[in-house]
Amino acid sequence: MRGTLPFRLAPLVAAAGLAGCATVSQINIVSQEQELQMGAQFAAELEKDLRFIKDPEVVGYIDNLGQSLARVSQRSDIPYTFHVVDTDEVNAFAVPGGYLYVNRGLIEAAESESELAGVLGHEIGHVVGRHSARQLSQQMGIAALASIALGENPGMVAQLGAQIAATGAITHYSREMESEADRYGVQELYDAGIDPDGLATFFDKLVEMRGGAGSGKLEQFFSTHPDPGARAAEVRAMIARLPATSLRGDSQRFHTIQAKVKAMPRPPGS
Ligand code: ZN
Repeated sequence: MRGTLPFRLAPLVAAAGLAGCATVSQINIVSQEQELQMGAQFAAELEKDLRFIKDPEVVGYIDNLGQSLARVSQRSDIPYTFHVVDTDEVNAFAVPGGYLYVNRGLIEAAESESELAGVLGHEIGHVVGRHSARQLSQQMGIAALASIALGENPGMVAQLGAQIAATGAITHYSREMESEADRYGVQELYDAGIDPDGLATFFDKLVEMRGGAGSGKLEQFFSTHPDPGARAAEVRAMIARLPATSLRGDSQRFHTIQAKVKAMPRPPGS
């Protein structure tokens, strides 16, 4: 296996070289199968470092909401797994292969189901765009990634898993990837019958909260998602182009779940 891999990857490397830097990110650097294998390894590693909320009602709600978006996404052919992380940080993140992590801080900070779904749709958008696999392959090189996918590099998986657990992000995505994830997210919400305006109002909220009380909980999000004000405007422009239809902005279920999460013991260190 180890011997044959560079040979199989060589045409990809050559294609990337010929096409030039600008289009490297458009190339599917690792196969879908490799991405799923790598994601499963990261997820297993993360589970050692993160504390999860296991309440079936809470997890079931997040899973339902997330699956309703994933189902209408442009990458509905892979399985999606949603976890609720017991931390105050207002954030959500994805690792390769459809593993999504929603922090309790995000569930508590969202004002409506539309806002929570907006952030979930954005993160699913990173999976649809295969952003983490693309970004990792640019940073680490294709050979290192492929050896992770093949299970040949457990030390590196552990190191990256710890980094993801600590920062809530596999890496910093480019501004272009963030916009692409916003676009996918807006379309997913719209197609699932949920008002995508929540993504814009959530960005507004981040701008308001910045520098104020509780802004410490937003550090992770700001470090990985710069310029929320400009992105709120972009999201509103995308929404304005969609045909008018009846969309759900909120649900009683969201508020029931949010109240349940708020009543749980605070996470350690908060
Ligand atoms: Zn993002």
